[in-house]
Amino acid sequence: MVNDTTRLLGLDGLAVVEVMARDERAGEGPIVWLATVDERARMCPGRGVRATQMKQWVTTWPRDLPVAGRRCALLWRKRRWICSKAGCPRKTLTEQVSQIPARARLTERLRRATGAAVADGGRTIVQSARDHGVSWPVASAAFTSHAGRVLPAEPKPITVLGIDETRRGRPRWV
Ligand SMILES: [Zn+2]
Repeated sequence: MVNDTTRLLGLDGLAVVEVMARDERAGEGPIVWLATVDERARMCPGRGVRATQMKQWVTTWPRDLPVAGRRCALLWRKRRWICSKAGCPRKTLTEQVSQIPARARLTERLRRATGAAVADGGRTIVQSARDHGVSWPVASAAFTSHAGRVLPAEPKPITVLGIDETRRGRPRWV
C-alpha cells in the first residue's frame, strides 16, 4: 500500500488510498483518502495491548499543512476497536498515529507550525490562525504548547538571553 503519494504526504502509519480532485477554480484542493497501515495504531493506551475486535468505522477530517502548496482535505476512515484486555477502563479505542493522536482535529505538524509561526516567526495568533486555516483557540493553544517546549518554566534573565541566541538558528516556518 506504500505508494508515491503516501511517501509524498509523509504521515507515518497512514497510506493514501485515493486522491479525489475537487473544483480547483473554487480554491478547493483534492480530497486525500487515508487508510491505517500500522497495527500499532490500535494499541490500547490504557493497557498496551493490541485490539482485535472491531466495533465500527469512524470518518475523520484532520486538518494538515498544505501539500505541494495546495490545501488538501484529509479523509481518514479509521476503526474504533473494542479493547481485548479484561477490565480495561477504556473499553473502546479509536486508531491513532504519531501525527494524529486520538481526538486530535489537526496533525501534529500543523499544530507545531501554527505555534512556531507565533513563537519563532513573529506572527500574531490571529495571523497564524488565518495562515494555517485553524481557529483562534487552536492557534492560541498551539502557541502555548510550543512556548512551553521552548521556554523554561521560570526563565531567569540570563537564560532568556541564551534562548534568544539559540532560537535565531531555528528553521522558520513561512
Ligand atoms: Zn484497553
